[in-house]
Amino acid sequence: MKDCNQCGKCCIHYADGGLSASASEIEEWETYRPDIASYVGAGEIWISPVTGKPMQRCPWLRKLPGQNKYTCRIYDDRPEDCRHYPVDIDQMLRDDCEMLEPRDLNNPRQAQRDLDELMADSRPPMSKK
Ligand code: SF4
Ligand code: SF4
Repeated sequence: MKDCNQCGKCCIHYADGGLSASASEIEEWETYRPDIASYVGAGEIWISPVTGKPMQRCPWLRKLPGQNKYTCRIYDDRPEDCRHYPVDIDQMLRDDCEMLEPRDLNNPRQAQRDLDELMADSRPPMSKK
């Protein structure tokens, strides 16, 4: 399992209607990050404050100049959905996540443990001990 290389595939894939935020996250943005809250509409993310319609691309995704890499402009305040990604090996396979290595496919249980270790600061483990 490799570290995330910031290829941006997950943000591009899920931002188009594939993300949600909890009521408490939205409340927190309303209090501390009104700029983020302005992209919430009727409890849904990400909604354009201009058109009131769902955005096809996450407004916080930024491509690094001259590189094929992306960053999140609200990294410390991003939704829990984003913090928890990637959840499991199946999801990574579906999304063509570039953290996966050939050896992970040969031993998916170990790969899940490796992933959980990498994600320890962001979410609870998914692998069964
Ligand atoms: S909020 Fe950040 S992490 Fe989440 S989809 Fe947008 S750019 Fe990616
Ligand atoms: S698809 Fe995988 S490697 Fe690419 S940015 Fe997302 S987590 Fe990182």
